[in-house]
Amino acid sequence: MSNHSRSFIPYGRQTVTEADIHAVVEVLRSSYLTQGPVIPAFEEAVSSKVSAKYGVAVNSATSGLHIACLALGLGAGDYLWTSPITFVASANCGLYCGATVDFVDIDPTTGLMSIDALSAKLEQAEISGTLPKVVVPVHLTGSSCDMAAISLLAERYGFAVIEDASHAIGGQYHGEPVGNCRYSDITVFSFHPVKIITTGEGGLNTTNNPVLAQCMTELRSHGIVREAEQFKYPPAGPWVYEQQQLGFNYRITDLQAALGLSQLQRLDEIVAERNSHLHHYQVLLADLRVHLLEVPKDVRSSVHLAVIRLVDSRPEHHRCIFEGLRNAGIGVQLHYSPVHLQPYYRNLGFKPNDFPEAEAYGRNAISLPLYPGLKNHEKEFIVNLLADLLDRRR
Ligand SMILES: *Cc1c(COP(=O)(O)O)cnc(C)c1O
Repeated sequence: MSNHSRSFIPYGRQTVTEADIHAVVEVLRSSYLTQGPVIPAFEEAVSSKVSAKYGVAVNSATSGLHIACLALGLGAGDYLWTSPITFVASANCGLYCGATVDFVDIDPTTGLMSIDALSAKLEQAEISGTLPKVVVPVHLTGSSCDMAAISLLAERYGFAVIEDASHAIGGQYHGEPVGNCRYSDITVFSFHPVKIITTGEGGLNTTNNPVLAQCMTELRSHGIVREAEQFKYPPAGPWVYEQQQLGFNYRITDLQAALGLSQLQRLDEIVAERNSHLHHYQVLLADLRVHLLEVPKDVRSSVHLAVIRLVDSRPEHHRCIFEGLRNAGIGVQLHYSPVHLQPYYRNLGFKPNDFPEAEAYGRNAISLPLYPGLKNHEKEFIVNLLADLLDRRR
């Protein structure tokens, strides 16, 4: 198998059309580059697409997670729980607020937060008085977690739920769009270029709660309020605004929102194509000693990632397959190395064997390239090479 004429195949990449470029150029020619009319139009378009009442756009999902936690009142002395198999931002948001972060192990077949592990940990936490204030289920690879089950536990134990849907815009749970917040307080989307649709950098929080929406809108812009009817003190004149809480500059720009709004028009198409690539991989991989992560029943994944797990779990095998694919110009990745074993989290007291399923995943998972425009012959090349590297078929 030769790769001399091939260019690098990344694990993911954005698609930008002429229409996208035109939409951004239009904003460049307009009166506002930031804080103009396109941001509210983008917020309205995303929230109506996912059937949520409110949308608050921000400059990244990391910022979105931070202000979601703050709006829910997370602070020192509180606990935030998330999955160890996620991008570090899902956990860091708790630390930003001064809360203590802990993790819930995964279901090995889906890679998602295990409902059994969550129930068991909640039972223990109730006894020890360490129940979480916020739980952040992560819709890894674009597959929704079991939100109905999580919401029942949220009612029983009194915690708030933030869906980290960074991977999952365009996905569905029980036939309804991810982001409608039927089973959560807030959903956070990311529009980083590797995600389903992009704004360059950017994110958006949806909620059905007007108080949370208002609070997050203030927090993304310094905690400033501009509507006189919400002022705490009588304004001395029309120039007055009030800073009522400690916020940030987490604003997105009109330029970025224009790109997102244009990309959003293609969301269904993109998700359909991503699903068809995943199905093709399912067929191609059928005889190999690997398992694709399963999409749960009643979930339509947005298929951000195609993650396989090697049946042979020896770490040297993982490394060898990884290097073999990388050396052939295939940009495989690990999404993700368990967060609790990052040096920063080890310093907080986490250690190997804390979350065995997540650690096993970290030793045998590989994300194969998947993005719109990926060619069939590229998938075949990748899978043939993988088969050679695995060196034996089932
Ligand atoms: C990408 C990602 C984030 C952070 O998104 P940014 O927009 O890059 O800040 C958070 N959580 C998960 C699961 C992600 O994949």
